[in-house]
Amino acid sequence: MKTRPLTKRELEEFRRQLEAERDRLSAELEAMEEHLPEVEQVSVDASGGYDEDLADVASDTFEREKGIAIENSVQDLLQQVEEALERIDQGTFGICEACGSPIHPERLRALPYARLCIDCKAREEQAIPR
Ligand SMILES: [Zn+2]
Repeated sequence: MKTRPLTKRELEEFRRQLEAERDRLSAELEAMEEHLPEVEQVSVDASGGYDEDLADVASDTFEREKGIAIENSVQDLLQQVEEALERIDQGTFGICEACGSPIHPERLRALPYARLCIDCKAREEQAIPR
């Protein structure tokens, strides 16, 4: 069964969906940057309370790194959404980057920034290096 290319109307729907997603992710990213704890200075106080402080600093660092990991994945997603919007402008949206076939609209509905058709995606996943 051959997948038909997207209609102009569908493209506009995806554009709206992607733009909404982009706005949502940007807002999320901004909120995260505001709430990310500042890096604390490691200071050794004269009373020798160093070890306890160090434990606190370690857990703060952990929290911060967890925050950065989430922030990075949001940034990643945002990047993919922006690239998908560029593909809409360039007229390559919804076309598999690997084989050039149209990506099934149902797949795009679930994942509007998909770059590969389902077949190529499955192949890519199988080919993931050990
Ligand atoms: Zn493909």
